Amino acid sequence: MDISHVIHELTNGLINPFLYPLDPSRRVFVGFLLVAMLMAFFVYVTNNNRVSFSGFLKYFFKKDVWLHKSSKLDFKLLFANSALTTTFIVPIIVTKLSIIVWVSSGFRTEFGAIDNQLLPYWAIVLLFTITVFFVEDFNRFFLHRCYHKIPFLWEFHKVHHSAEVLTPFTLYRSHPVEIIISRMGSVLIIGFVTGIFVYLFPGQLSALEILGVDLLGFLFNALGANLRHSHIPFSFGRLEHYFISPSMHQIHHSELKQHHDKNFGSCFSLWDRLFSSLYLPDKKEVVVFGCANSGEHTLTSQWLSPFIRIFRPTSTQSKHSTVVTE
Ligand SMILES: [Zn+2]
Ligand SMILES: [Zn+2]
Repeated sequence: MDISHVIHELTNGLINPFLYPLDPSRRVFVGFLLVAMLMAFFVYVTNNNRVSFSGFLKYFFKKDVWLHKSSKLDFKLLFANSALTTTFIVPIIVTKLSIIVWVSSGFRTEFGAIDNQLLPYWAIVLLFTITVFFVEDFNRFFLHRCYHKIPFLWEFHKVHHSAEVLTPFTLYRSHPVEIIISRMGSVLIIGFVTGIFVYLFPGQLSALEILGVDLLGFLFNALGANLRHSHIPFSFGRLEHYFISPSMHQIHHSELKQHHDKNFGSCFSLWDRLFSSLYLPDKKEVVVFGCANSGEHTLTSQWLSPFIRIFRPTSTQSKHSTVVTE
């Protein structure tokens, strides 16, 4: 990889986040943000006797939230991480294809070729879409749980939890090490599942389906996923027994002891129920966001301090200790 290529990739990485609002495969796509605003309007109307549009805008774009040092850092991390990780994306896509080919041909060698015409085309696509979404959701849950339970990984995940206020862009507030581990995990698991499908239904899934027309992911983003990172406590009511609501993810960001290590899930509540980490919030619960290193408002400290804490364990703070703000 020569230097001009690296500069080209870094520049692309810096420009890419400006295009996210136009990309329906991104959670911060403008259409999804508008749906989230509509849902927030519902919460605003429910909680206030007198409603006005300007009142709602003040409620949604709360100055203390959007202009907070923590929010500004979310944006800095979004651009800086994009520049840093873009260089890794192409090799990861190649790896996904290699895994699909490796798994499907491995099964063929081991068990022989299959001429499976049992299911109609639409049923195969439906089965594939649901399986990938389900497996991906479990994979995200499990990795997230590992980030909390394994001290070395928690040091990196703390960057996400150090947010003192939440906006939809807090989604991108992660340490590059976490981003790379998550992408690799996803590529391995989804590559493996896809490889099995390619083996079971040879020639019946197009490249488009294999490389991800993520219909259920689209629905998940369209149904208010942006409110997960916000100050708006949108609840799913009784459906919270089955799906993780924005309120439930806000509990996950709480610095209160009783909320620690709860609600690791993304879409389904099932995994948290199975691993005894499900927490259904009370409507009146007040949540203060943050964790031990919430006071670190610079990009370099967020990038470097996980390494410092790992290699100099004496400086390791207790998990979720009192928030120290500047
Ligand atoms: Zn977490
Ligand atoms: Zn979060």
